[in-house]
Amino acid sequence: MRRGRAHVVEDVSIGPNCPHLVHTVPAPYVCLPLMAKGDILGLLHLKNVHPGNNSEIADLGQMAVTLSEYLSLSIANVKLSETLSRQSIQDQQSGLYNRRFMEESLHREIMRAARKKTSIGIIMGDIDHFKKFNDDYGHAAGDKIITHVGKIINDRFRGSDVACCYGGEEFLIILPETSLEDTFKRAEALREEIKKMEAVFPGQVAGTITMSLGVAAYPEKGLRMEDVLRTADTALYKAKQEGRDRVISG
Ligand code: GH3
Ligand code: MG
Ligand code: MG
Repeated sequence: MRRGRAHVVEDVSIGPNCPHLVHTVPAPYVCLPLMAKGDILGLLHLKNVHPGNNSEIADLGQMAVTLSEYLSLSIANVKLSETLSRQSIQDQQSGLYNRRFMEESLHREIMRAARKKTSIGIIMGDIDHFKKFNDDYGHAAGDKIITHVGKIINDRFRGSDVACCYGGEEFLIILPETSLEDTFKRAEALREEIKKMEAVFPGQVAGTITMSLGVAAYPEKGLRMEDVLRTADTALYKAKQEGRDRVISG
């Protein structure tokens, strides 16, 4: 691994042996680091299962090098494509889904809810006076808050819910198979938890971070995606108007 080269051991009684072999039956072997662009991706370990035929392991060496190169390239490609597909649906700062994924999901959930005759809850949230927070504590501290709010939302909601950050400090959570009343309760619990966040950054946040939230639900507040989103947005606007740090049902 350290030298980035194949390590062939024809006689394990002579070695030098790899430390990972402590619990295996001694047999001639070859170890090959799987590397791409200087990153170690793994280790290919081939062992001679017919001890006594020691010359085979050296013959295998060259073929194993070719194999390890193919494997390294394939693993690197899979990793890259996973990163790219995650980045295309994820908001970097909050770790939540992005706006594009939110819209696709809501479309899909509305079709599913129409067929199954169930409802969908929508929570729209926006951090209060965040511009002032940035002015007082700096943009980097603001970024930390967004990341932490993202984590709270991610931990608090179900895996089947779709939690998104759709621009800066604005969040939207889709709750399939949830009534307007239950959605309101979940939004209220989130608001309270965010208000308690001060404890996480002792000494860094004077006063408290609060969030205003608007809730809506399909089909009570509209049959089309745009209508439900508009209702939640109007409710959020009202929450701001009425003094912030509150949940308003649209
Ligand atoms: P309110 O929502 O209570 O009306 O006031 P606000 O000051 O939060 O106003 P608004 O929501 O309109 O503005 C959002 C501000 O949040 C603008 C910008 O300073 C800050 N902001 C947006 N995105 C980010 C981000 O990614 N990082 C940081 N640090 N700040 C952001
Ligand atoms: Mg905003
Ligand atoms: Mg705001």
